[in-house]
Amino acid sequence: MSAAQQVRGWIEAASRVVALTGAGISTDSGIPDFRGPQGLWTRNPLAEKMSNIHYYLADPEVRKASWQNRLSSPAWSAKPNPGHLAFVTLEKRKKLHALITQNIDELHQVAGNSPERVIEVHGTMRKFMCWGCGMRGPMELVLERVRAGEADPRCRDCGGILKSDTISFGQQLVPEVIDRAMQAARETDLFIAVGTSLQVYPVAGAVDVARAARAKVVIINAEPTPFDEVADAVFRDSISEVLPQLCS
Ligand SMILES: [Zn+2]
Repeated sequence: MSAAQQVRGWIEAASRVVALTGAGISTDSGIPDFRGPQGLWTRNPLAEKMSNIHYYLADPEVRKASWQNRLSSPAWSAKPNPGHLAFVTLEKRKKLHALITQNIDELHQVAGNSPERVIEVHGTMRKFMCWGCGMRGPMELVLERVRAGEADPRCRDCGGILKSDTISFGQQLVPEVIDRAMQAARETDLFIAVGTSLQVYPVAGAVDVARAARAKVVIINAEPTPFDEVADAVFRDSISEVLPQLCS
């Protein structure tokens, strides 16, 4: 029996699949990975500065560059790929308990997964938030102001600095969101990590939580991860090719 057939059997037998997705699932949709060889940071060190909260809050020039970056993000025109759609299939089969994602592109929701099943540990680029008063809203409202000429738009309520509703470097994760992710990992019987290097904690710890709950662990990632040795199955293949085979 091939590894893929074996995993199909595990999914068939599972009742609460939990997936953890990272940048690798969205690269086939044309959204570059941050750290990979073709990654955004590898090619543009300024991008790393723009994603650091301290530089962002301190330097209007960093914010201006960030707003231009958000305007031209490839994510706005990106379409979900067969990898994303595989999880929609899994939800329709009533197998999907939760979809934990490190991605901020909302492509899981665009693909058709229920928003309440998606746990966005790094937030979403499709909303803005005010650093002063905490107000949130659709990102498009602020992007319209940037297009109209405001280089560094401020909150209309409190004058605070606006940013995307994402977790930048140097910024705390939201404890309630991490708790939800770990709770889902405790409840799963089959954990699938897709397109993530599993090197960023605490999220990578979800694998250990799932293993402690005696869940099977499947990893699909182009590069090796620290959890490959303890996983029940590891795939190096293209995510948009292998995931539909496993989940259909
Ligand atoms: Zn505000």
